[in-house]
Amino acid sequence: MTYVKKWTSVEAYLKDMPPAGGRQISGVVIHHTWSPDHATWRGDRSAAGIMRYWLQRSKELGYRNPLGAHYIVAPDGAVYQCFPHAQVLNANSNGHANRTTISLEIVGNLDVGNDTLKNPQKHGVLGLTGVLLCRYGLTEAHVSFHRDFTDTKSCPGTGIKKDVFVAYARTALAWARSLMGR
Ligand SMILES: [Zn+2]
Repeated sequence: MTYVKKWTSVEAYLKDMPPAGGRQISGVVIHHTWSPDHATWRGDRSAAGIMRYWLQRSKELGYRNPLGAHYIVAPDGAVYQCFPHAQVLNANSNGHANRTTISLEIVGNLDVGNDTLKNPQKHGVLGLTGVLLCRYGLTEAHVSFHRDFTDTKSCPGTGIKKDVFVAYARTALAWARSLMGR
């Protein structure tokens, strides 16, 4: 099984959004892949590889809800959907967060000294965050980082400051609202 769908940009995603239904959503959680990073990312092949890895590990671990994230945002800003919004994932080291959030995975190792989040990927990540917040009637206060739920991970990377990201998400939400007419 490979990823569900790919859009080349968040603008393309906005014109052709997947179903929102099936689950009560109270937040968006941000992750990074760590590996592949920007240097080892190979586009569609890597996205399919990540998906295969998640499903294989989930099977090995006997997880009822798969490991993974709903979305992957590539260095070129492409958006991959890996699971429908209705799917609960083992994403956040926290059962409540798993049940009630959508997870967004940034391709890269965003720990300080490695990759950095810059355009067009930055636009894709923040744009998708804004669109998801808008769709579920949420605000930038409903953005979490994986590391908010665990002490054992830096995810989405020590190079991503929460207050800076949240401020950008606020702007992204206003952008999404203007385009979605909400
Ligand atoms: Zn994570």
